[in-house]
Amino acid sequence: MEKKYHYVFGPAPSRRLGRSLGVRVVPLKACSYNCIYCQLGRTNILTTERKEWLPSHEILREIIEVADRLGEKIDYITFLGDGEPTLHSKLGWLIEKTKTETGIKVAVLTNGSLLYIDEVAESLLEADLVSPKLDAGNERLFRIINRPHPSIKYNEMLNGLIEFRRKYRGFLWLEVMLINQLNDTIPHLRELAEKIQLIKPDNIFINTPIRPPAEEWVKPPTSDRILKAAQILGAKKTPITLPQPEFHIEAYPDPVEAIIDITRTHPMSLDEVKQTLMNYGYNPNEIIRRVLETGQVSKRQYMGKYYLVYRQPR
Ligand code: SF4
Repeated sequence: MEKKYHYVFGPAPSRRLGRSLGVRVVPLKACSYNCIYCQLGRTNILTTERKEWLPSHEILREIIEVADRLGEKIDYITFLGDGEPTLHSKLGWLIEKTKTETGIKVAVLTNGSLLYIDEVAESLLEADLVSPKLDAGNERLFRIINRPHPSIKYNEMLNGLIEFRRKYRGFLWLEVMLINQLNDTIPHLRELAEKIQLIKPDNIFINTPIRPPAEEWVKPPTSDRILKAAQILGAKKTPITLPQPEFHIEAYPDPVEAIIDITRTHPMSLDEVKQTLMNYGYNPNEIIRRVLETGQVSKRQYMGKYYLVYRQPR
């Protein structure tokens, strides 16, 4: 990229999607949930309002420009945020245009909370892959973990997922975030498995909060518990069976900008930052110092490691 893009970033590493060009369609951080584990921090715009949060034509123009440049280096163009992408009222139009204009597969990472609304479900039908989340098997845990907008009810959300699966012909990859001592107990996993069986996803991906979460006290389960959960939920892939992602920064004009942009959606451990910068022949300590001097990123400790974390503008 020779110039700075506002809505498109990456290709970012994705353990599910390979080299994924990310697209931001809502501002940081407009979401219908305020998940305790969110790596974007707490939700400052908790909403279910659907509107053209960011300008559709500008977003599409950037997608086409970057896809033209990076073409075969991209596996997916992924709509994901910075928050909940289905809040964007023209998401369906963006998906359709992205596919016809670039010929690249489209994925949507969504919390799935609004799929019970017909026009939201319809807007995703053209996507090649949709990855919604389900972390709780009941309303009580749903409120503790996802802290949804008060208008969202668990059963309505679940029925939205079940109905969407019936209509959707693409690949449905359900994500479950497992949290130590919260939704990783055997009775809860069984309850969750029953709900997942109603949805019938093509695949289940277990994730864990391995990067700094919105709430300091959130921790990942032990490896044993993750493997047990995979067995109960029927998940083929877990964080401990997948390789760590590699970060690519060649598409950015400047390494400082690259690190800031990646941390905006994906906190990076200091080891990852150093390794990435060394891979591209930069002096890591100097670049890290310049990144921190911008004030847009701060250093944070989580689970015994230091991370660079993007600071949300207040
Ligand atoms: S994890 Fe996703 S759904 Fe949850 S608060 Fe963050 S952006 Fe919203």
